[in-house]
Amino acid sequence: KAKQIAIYGKGGIGKSTTTSNLSAALSKLGYKVMQFGCDPKSDSTNTLRDGTYIPTVLDTLREKNQVNAHDVIFKGFNGIYCVEAGGPSPGVGCAGRGIITAVELFKQQRIFEELDLDYVIYDVLGDVVCGGFAVPIREGIAEHVFTVSSADFMALYAANNLFKGIQKYSNSGGALLGGVIANSINQPYSKEIIDDFVEVTKTQVVEYIPRSVTVTQCELQGKTTIEAAPDSAQAKVYTSLAEKISNHTNSKTPAPLGVQELRDWASKWGKYLLALQTGEIRNELAP
Ligand code: ATP
Ligand code: MG
Repeated sequence: KAKQIAIYGKGGIGKSTTTSNLSAALSKLGYKVMQFGCDPKSDSTNTLRDGTYIPTVLDTLREKNQVNAHDVIFKGFNGIYCVEAGGPSPGVGCAGRGIITAVELFKQQRIFEELDLDYVIYDVLGDVVCGGFAVPIREGIAEHVFTVSSADFMALYAANNLFKGIQKYSNSGGALLGGVIANSINQPYSKEIIDDFVEVTKTQVVEYIPRSVTVTQCELQGKTTIEAAPDSAQAKVYTSLAEKISNHTNSKTPAPLGVQELRDWASKWGKYLLALQTGEIRNELAP
């Protein structure tokens, strides 16, 4: 049975880049992978298919009444199955409908069984406080949730909101949290900040991914780093992430912070970093 994984994270944080490299790395390790873009922008799978867009499930359903699931599944790098759920017209309808509709279609036509997949990876926009985006968690579609986050407050705020959503459905068969994928951790103290955040919210960091120009260069060619720069240091990091996720079994219920707790936590770090900057303290030890 395929392992179903959902990757969440604040807009623009690196979900699609990380997800596509994860899919590519898992596929290189010999697993059969489907990447499922749940973002209405429908650009999740672009770098698995030389920078091109594929027709979305919702658009295809709008054109024809009868849709064969194979009409919306496209092969990408190393045989990875690429799907884009698509979205409603902006301002109309619920963004989660694409995911529900697409998963329903695949279940009816027994696609997950037929393709004998090892992994289905959902790339989901995670900072929107909308029930639709909780669908993969709530409906038991995904089993394990990972979130991509940098050390920036807004990214951690989005991660904390996601934790609240997971906690809410954790007793009714919802998905649980595998951990945080720390992205763009080259700034001083970003590693310490994320480490502290996962400690107070009772979760873990799965992998630290540096910000790298290799990623940008590969993206300009319309490709993942795994495909276009397989021998790079960055590709090794994505491969290590894939190995950790393939060995991962036990997800947990996180312990999100309350609104004021999160503010206090962030302001403690803010004061510390400011004091370091002004030379008020020289101690390199984190608070
Ligand atoms: P959206 O919410 O809009 O879907 P996203 O979270 O999927 O965004 P991406 O599209 O993956 O984010 O990334 C945004 C930009 O950041 C891209 O140009 C991507 O190449 C860049 N990026 C992400 N991670 C890294 C990294 N580790 N090193 C260098 N660039 C990165
Ligand atoms: Mg994206």
